[in-house]
Amino acid sequence: MTATLIFGSIDTQSIATASYIVAALLFILSLAGLSRHESARQGVAFGIAGMAIALAATIALATEDAATVAVVLLVVAVAIGAAIGLWRARVVEMTGMPELIALLHSFVGLAAVLVGWNGYFAVENGDHHDLVGSLLDIHHAEVFIGVFIGAVTFTGSIVAYLKLSARIKSAPLMLPAKNWLNLGALVAFVVLTVIFVISPSLPLLIAVTVLALALGWHLVASIGGGDMPVVVSMLNSYSGWAAAASGFLLGNDLLIVTGALVGSSGAYLSYIMCQAMNRSFISVIAGGFGIEAAAAADTDHGEHREIDAAAAAELLTEASSVIITPGYGMAVAQAQYPVAELTRQLRDRGIEVRFGVHPVAGRLPGHMNVLLAEAKVPYDIVLEMDEINDDFADTDVVLVIGANDTVNPAATEDPGSPIAGMPVLRVWEASNVIVFKRSMASGYAGVQNPLFFRDNTQMLFGDAKAKVDEIVGALVAERVPA
Ligand code: NDP
Repeated sequence: MTATLIFGSIDTQSIATASYIVAALLFILSLAGLSRHESARQGVAFGIAGMAIALAATIALATEDAATVAVVLLVVAVAIGAAIGLWRARVVEMTGMPELIALLHSFVGLAAVLVGWNGYFAVENGDHHDLVGSLLDIHHAEVFIGVFIGAVTFTGSIVAYLKLSARIKSAPLMLPAKNWLNLGALVAFVVLTVIFVISPSLPLLIAVTVLALALGWHLVASIGGGDMPVVVSMLNSYSGWAAAASGFLLGNDLLIVTGALVGSSGAYLSYIMCQAMNRSFISVIAGGFGIEAAAAADTDHGEHREIDAAAAAELLTEASSVIITPGYGMAVAQAQYPVAELTRQLRDRGIEVRFGVHPVAGRLPGHMNVLLAEAKVPYDIVLEMDEINDDFADTDVVLVIGANDTVNPAATEDPGSPIAGMPVLRVWEASNVIVFKRSMASGYAGVQNPLFFRDNTQMLFGDAKAKVDEIVGALVAERVPA
């Protein structure tokens, strides 16, 4: 009987370990799939399969080890979480994704804090007799580091959520000596960790939690609106490391692997985005270290010219090459469907149509690609900024649809501009540029755009969807014989 039990228990354990390895592989395949549009759906499917296997294995392990009440609690928590997750995922607008992601990261941070605290009390309550000597020291270091990373992620993500959803101002908080505050908090953390490992105590754990909560808040509050995309992916990375720290504490290999995957891929994405925005990676992750708030220049750029939809349609039919550069406004207006229809109409006329997508166009990386794919724009005509930037000079018409910062020539021409040095789509090199927007207001970075005043630029004011619809209407009417 005992032998059967032991054998049975080993069996479940090894099946769970094998399942964790399969799940980890599926997560790696998922990340690989998500890196290209063509394979993104497959990537999501791999991720779902990996998570289902991981959950099943975890529940099986818990069923074996824990009391019935714990298993019931686990299943109830999973069911409630899944229901809320399904509901949020169904109702969220694409433009609201960054804040939802920020909020989800805050949960990972909070979970890591709770796991860390639980790890401390488990030792206090004598649940870890097996941990002695240096193993116990390592355990205490894991508790402290896990709580620190988790608490930084928690408050940092909450501030990111509040900023992205415009519940608080997105301007950077500029406390005096802010860099020293951040540095001081890090030094204090290292010192406290050493003391805690030597002599663990509840007041120290409370102190590091409060310190990390304040640091997380300050780090993200110090970062201005223009750098928020990097912050979201940086918090993604932090949440991965927080999960990995929890994995060590819980002795869960899958959590360690998954956390490391999320942590490193998030860090790499932040790095790529910093390059796309010409920001120093270190400066952004250190809470805007060295970045001072730039004063917005009040330059008089002269007069702008306007065009209506009928004239825009005429200009397009005379063109042989067209590039469309979409931005956040296309997402707000949900103009991707008429834009796809416009693309079809123009291509049917033998006009070459391509899309130029800036890496941070919209409110999260890949935002534009998702919208265009949703509207069935062929992948092969959707190009990255670097692939298309040299072609603008040979292009007849560029349609800037709800984009602003990502096509601002001040980034390359005005060293005093707050977005100076950020690589942008050089749309102004084309023969004609039509800018779709509702007013002369600035974009997300709050910087005026001299493009609007160029001789080859014409503004098409109004909601982007309505205006593209009007152009499509004019093109269709022109084709229908009277
Ligand atoms: P911008 O925010 O620079 O510009 C969007 C433009 O769309 C605005 O000028 C607005 O002008 C116009 N617009 C808004 N609604 C409509 C509508 N219904 N119809 C027509 N036009 C509309 O967007 P970009 O995509 O060019 O640049 C992205 C910016 O967002 C960058 O500064 C980037 O750093 C930042 N960012 C990027 C993130 C990312 O990860 N990709 C995350 C967070 C921020 P008007 O009001 O006059 O209509």
